[in-house]
Amino acid sequence: MSRLVFMNDRLVPEAEARVSVFDHGLLYGDGVFEGLRAYSGRVFRLAEHLDRLWASARAICLEIPVSRDVLGRAIDETLAANGLPDGYVRVVVTRGAGSLGLDPARTSAPQVIVIADRLALYPAEQVERGLRLVTAATQRSHPAALSPRIKSLNYLNNIMAKLEGKQAGCVEALMLNHKGEVAECTADNVFVVRGSRLLTPPPDAGILEGITRGAVMELAVAAGIDCREATLTRHDLYTADEMFITGTAAEVVPVVELDGRAIGDGVPGPVTRRLAAAFHRLVRGGG
Ligand code: PMP
Repeated sequence: MSRLVFMNDRLVPEAEARVSVFDHGLLYGDGVFEGLRAYSGRVFRLAEHLDRLWASARAICLEIPVSRDVLGRAIDETLAANGLPDGYVRVVVTRGAGSLGLDPARTSAPQVIVIADRLALYPAEQVERGLRLVTAATQRSHPAALSPRIKSLNYLNNIMAKLEGKQAGCVEALMLNHKGEVAECTADNVFVVRGSRLLTPPPDAGILEGITRGAVMELAVAAGIDCREATLTRHDLYTADEMFITGTAAEVVPVVELDGRAIGDGVPGPVTRRLAAAFHRLVRGGG
């Protein structure tokens, strides 16, 4: 069955959902996006995703040509029209068609696209057992070059690291920042348990501030777990008791091996399992 895609102001069949070859989103990765997830017809933390989308757009001087309310409704309509009460939603806002030059002032009409799809998840058996990861040699973009806090259409930095992960037989890869500190994975945030503390890199480590990350930090606090942002090195990960990653599609996924070293006991740890279960309850309860 052909999908229906929301383009600017209406739903159109997938085959009619097209952008110009002059669109600066295509030519230069000039645009922003969001990845959201619906549970039983309700989008998890819609307002936070819209806040992040608008913040990303503002950072690149891109005016989103629809209101938050209109976009929120478009997301609901796209999920419903595709019969996906439990699904993944990609919102894309491109700079629009322009000239072959870089100048954003020579573009017109930013394109607003909403695509709903089935979730693409990591293999269930790997999630169950815990992931094996490697550290990519590709560093996370220097924040002064392109801030990782902007969820921009320019994801080549992450794709380069993802390629390294895939070449090592892994579904994700760890990325360090320009100082050699732990930043995040290619599309997921990182947490470790060390002793009685749950630690995750701060925004200034050069990360996207994940909405799942925020929810997990809240859940940890509510569960009485001492959760802090902290600068982490690979040593802190190699010697951690537990490690997990978080993301909209991934939710909370244990990591049991990094660069050939077992993390902790080499099996998903109790804090990870507890937080994964709490997150599961939160999203399915409408949190
Ligand atoms: N880091 C990066 C680079 C991402 O693209 C994402 C989103 N897939 C995340 C972290 C996780 O963010 P969220 O929990 O909001 O999906």
